[in-house]
Amino acid sequence: MDHFLYRNGALHAEDVPVAEIAAAVGTPFYLYSTATLTRHFKLFDEALDWTDHLVCFAMKSASNQAILRVLANAGAGMDVVSVGEYLRAKAAGVPGEKIVFSGVGKTAEEMRMALEGGIRQFNVESEPEMAMLDQVAQSLGTVAPITIRVNPDVDAKTHAKIATGKSENKFGIPISRACEVYAMAARMPGLRVVGIDVHIGSQLTELAPFEAAYQKVAELTELLRAEGHDITRLDLGGGLGIPYTRSNEAPPLPTEYGALIQRTLGHLGCEIEIEPGRLISGNAGIMVSKVIYVKSGEDRDFLILDGAMNDLIRPAMYDAWHDIVPIIEPQPGQEPAKYDIVGPICESGDTFAKGREMPQLRADDLVAFRSAGAYGAVMSSEYNSRPMIPEVLVDKDQFAVIRPRPTYEEMISRDTLPSWLE
Ligand SMILES: *Cc1c(COP(=O)(O)O)cnc(C)c1O
Repeated sequence: MDHFLYRNGALHAEDVPVAEIAAAVGTPFYLYSTATLTRHFKLFDEALDWTDHLVCFAMKSASNQAILRVLANAGAGMDVVSVGEYLRAKAAGVPGEKIVFSGVGKTAEEMRMALEGGIRQFNVESEPEMAMLDQVAQSLGTVAPITIRVNPDVDAKTHAKIATGKSENKFGIPISRACEVYAMAARMPGLRVVGIDVHIGSQLTELAPFEAAYQKVAELTELLRAEGHDITRLDLGGGLGIPYTRSNEAPPLPTEYGALIQRTLGHLGCEIEIEPGRLISGNAGIMVSKVIYVKSGEDRDFLILDGAMNDLIRPAMYDAWHDIVPIIEPQPGQEPAKYDIVGPICESGDTFAKGREMPQLRADDLVAFRSAGAYGAVMSSEYNSRPMIPEVLVDKDQFAVIRPRPTYEEMISRDTLPSWLE
């Protein structure tokens, strides 16, 4: 459920008409709902009520500080994958002890900055990374809390670009070698092992792969404890999928996911961490865009929008489907049209949808891309010298720009000419 609904024939974000925001900030733009963000976070938080837990928002899905602040105020920790994200989380008011540091290629500099600023744990992904962290921690005279990310070799049954839990993927250490690697970690004075980490992929629409992975984590916990490791914390990653179409998809709910965790891991008495991104932010955001032209082709009509693949890359990159709806509610009995919905960029890949059934639209009409809150704004670029589009946050009847649209001057002036070309 989200808070982008038609009221009196007009799409609203909570209590504000989307058209009113478009008039104030111009199109295209991203628009987030505070109530939806909070609601989704609480669903996870409550699903783990049966134990000590921390829900760490995977901020790579949506990293605007205003979004982080909303979630932090609700009690969220953060899962970061770079020191840039770490600093952004800190700037948004998240304390270091609620930040976990994931990622396959943390540099020594990133480790140092996180250790100095305070960190809940590093999720270590390889032996060389472990050795580096040991060195960095020792050089600072401190001890780094770690989990080791294991790769359980399960098929997440999701898009190949976001599956991470098979042995061919670059993530974690093979679970078959876990005992050996934990023994190495235990011998390193700069490290303190606190638990196990696993993350098998994104946009999972079934629970079975989670269940397979978590059963393996349960076995590993017992094994490592028998060998004398103090396993008190299990970080189970993110990955629960969301419905991208209103009609036919029904991914599992956070409550069912929480019950699965309890069933597979509850008996171990560990503190549970999870790292959901998409399920918290995905349906909490839309991208609003304007029709520039309706163009008639040989055998089809094109809706040419002012939004493009540089603003929302998911269709081009993951073949993703986004529901695209007019912000004026279609009337029943209206004859539908079929469009290829495209952006203005000079690439055929700049296509959001093909042969999409839509109400008849005209130039200047506004449309909303649903489920654009996750992996939308964060993956945008200025390809084709199109300035980054603004982000706006709604809370009940108020809205605010949380990242302004740069002027052309601001965008262009970031380049510098070398002295010999001046
Ligand atoms: C991407 C990622 C997540 C979040 O995945 P979602 O599908 O957005 O929930 C969590 N943990 C790690 C380590 C990740 O790489």
